Amino acid sequence: MAENDTAEKPWRELTREERLAWAVNIASHVEVDRENRIISAAATCPNCGHGFSATVTDADILVDVERGVRDSPTVDWSGTLKFTIACGCAEGHPGRPSEVSHGCGASGPLKDVP
Ligand SMILES: [Zn+2]
Ligand SMILES: [Zn+2]
Repeated sequence: MAENDTAEKPWRELTREERLAWAVNIASHVEVDRENRIISAAATCPNCGHGFSATVTDADILVDVERGVRDSPTVDWSGTLKFTIACGCAEGHPGRPSEVSHGCGASGPLKDVP
C-alpha cells in the first residue's frame, strides 16, 4: 500500500459547509436499525482515506425539536432521528484532543425519516 500521499493530516473540525458535504457523502454508508436501536456507519476518513466503522449511541442522537420532546432523555426510535456521525478512523491526526481516541475531527449531521 502506498503511504506517501497519506502523511498525517492534522486534526481539524469541519466548517458548516464541509460538515453538510460530508454528511451527504456518508449518508449512503449509514445503516439505521430501528428494531435493535443501532445506527452504524462504515465509511472512509475524508482526511487520511482509511476506512472506519462507527456506531451512534443514544447520546449522539438529537431528538427532533419539532416534536417538543427535546428535554426527554428517551429517544423515540419510531420517529425522525437526527444524529451526528463523526469520523472514527484509527490513524494518527496530530492535534487530536486527548479525550478523543479516534477520528480527524470530521463530523456531520444526518437525519433518518421512518
Ligand atoms: Zn477522519
Ligand atoms: Zn483519518
